[in-house]
Amino acid sequence: MKTTNKNKKLYIIILAFVLITIVVYAFPFRKIEAPVVKNVEEVKNVISTALEENKIGSPSLSPELKYKIVSRSVVVPEDIKNKTKAILLTIDDGPSSHTKEMIEILNKHNAKAIFFINGMHAKDYPSIIEDTYKEGFAVGNHTWDHLNLRKATDEKIIEQEINKNTDLITKLTGSKPRFFRAPYGDSNPHVRKLVKDAGMIFMDWSGTALDWEKSTIEKDVFVGNVMRNIHNGSIILIHEHPWSVANLDALLIDIESKGYTYVDPKDIIE
Ligand SMILES: [Zn+2]
Repeated sequence: MKTTNKNKKLYIIILAFVLITIVVYAFPFRKIEAPVVKNVEEVKNVISTALEENKIGSPSLSPELKYKIVSRSVVVPEDIKNKTKAILLTIDDGPSSHTKEMIEILNKHNAKAIFFINGMHAKDYPSIIEDTYKEGFAVGNHTWDHLNLRKATDEKIIEQEINKNTDLITKLTGSKPRFFRAPYGDSNPHVRKLVKDAGMIFMDWSGTALDWEKSTIEKDVFVGNVMRNIHNGSIILIHEHPWSVANLDALLIDIESKGYTYVDPKDIIE
């Protein structure tokens, strides 16, 4: 019995020695690094630092994002893989007594737009066209007199309607207009060729508030007309009517709530 007890003790001592040896060699005594788990704030900081250093692009902020006009009525990113939801705002028939207020509302929303103007109104609103351009908006050509170019038969008048307005915009802004919209959306291949040869991008639209209709005085009708058909790449048409100004803020709030950003006309390359 004595021998057995002695042996037992010996076994325990040997076993303990072996175990200690395994623990010491298998798990070296060093500081074990915690896994790299960043909390939400840290991740946000990494993103904002990288953005500042231009290491990564934010879809809505990227200065590299360029757009093209397709089928005269849709705006699409040059890089078709880019899935940024964006629409282009266009405002016709100014300048008017409402232009300034529209600009203020657009600026509040950090929204850009093209103002398609008629030269005939310029004399009544001196400096509005220059101010529009200085505020960072595009000034587009919508003919001098808002003439229906498809119905016009006198070639000289058609050219004059386009060129006289181009000259006025160039004189007032120091920059040739890059965009053209036909009054009533009415044109033909000949008119579109004249516009193209004059170096402008011809633009129709794919969504509108239908704000030539009196029913759009109602905010819900005005906003609803746009939102019913809005899609990524929509070119949206509104006018400088008093009710359009009154409903513009509500429209922009709805557009943004659906996740759309605004295309800056400066980023349209063709
Ligand atoms: Zn018009």
